[in-house]
Amino acid sequence: MARYTGPVCRLCRREDMKLFLKGERCYTDKCGYERRSYPPGQHGQSRRKKRSDYGEQLREKQKVKRIYGIAEKQFRGYFFKAVRMKGVSGNVLIQLLERRLDNAVYRMGFASDHAEARQLVRHGHFTVNGKRVDIPSYLVRARDVVAVRESSKTIARIVEALAAVDRRGVPQWIELDKDGMRGGVKQLPAREDVNLPIREQLIIELYSK
Ligand code: SF4
Repeated sequence: MARYTGPVCRLCRREDMKLFLKGERCYTDKCGYERRSYPPGQHGQSRRKKRSDYGEQLREKQKVKRIYGIAEKQFRGYFFKAVRMKGVSGNVLIQLLERRLDNAVYRMGFASDHAEARQLVRHGHFTVNGKRVDIPSYLVRARDVVAVRESSKTIARIVEALAAVDRRGVPQWIELDKDGMRGGVKQLPAREDVNLPIREQLIIELYSK
C-alpha cells in the first residue's frame, strides 16, 4: 500500500490522540487535535460508536504504523520478525520499531518528527559508528554511535530540531552529546523506556488470527 500523503493532523484525530507528526507545531495551540479533538469526516462529531474487538485491534495497529510512519507490508514484516525472536513478542515488536535508524535520529533530537528524520537519513546526513548509513530501517544496536556528518552540521532543520530537543526530552536508552551532534545507544530500549500509550497485545492478537 502506498504511503499516506494527506493531512497528518487528520490521523491524530482519527486515532484520538496526539501522534506528534508535525514537529514543533504539535507543541503549539495550532495543533489540529487540540482544536478539533473529534474524528475527521462528516459524522466525526456524532457520538463515537463502541468498537468491536477487531475494530480495537485494527485501530491499535494503525496507530502504531502512523506513529512510526511505516507501511503495512513492512509493519507485518516486523511482526513476524518479533514473533521469531526471543522475548515477549509485543515488547520485541516495539523494540524493533524503536531501533530503526530514522526513529533513533528522531529520539536523539536531530529531526523534529519521524518523516523529517526519514528524509534526513535517506539524504545521507548521518553516520553509524563512523560509516555513512542512508537506510531509514537500519536497526541500531547497543553501543552504536549515530552522528551528524561533518558536512551536515549546519543544516538548518537539524540545528533547529536539536535546539528544541529539551522540550520533548531524550529517552533513557539514548545518550546525547548535543554539542558534538552525536548520540549513543546506551542499551536496547526496554518497553518501559518507550513512553507511548500502545497496547501491543492487541496487535499481536490481530495478526495471530
Ligand atoms: Fe497531531 Fe501534531 Fe497535527 Fe497536533 S499538530 S494534530 S499532534 S500532527
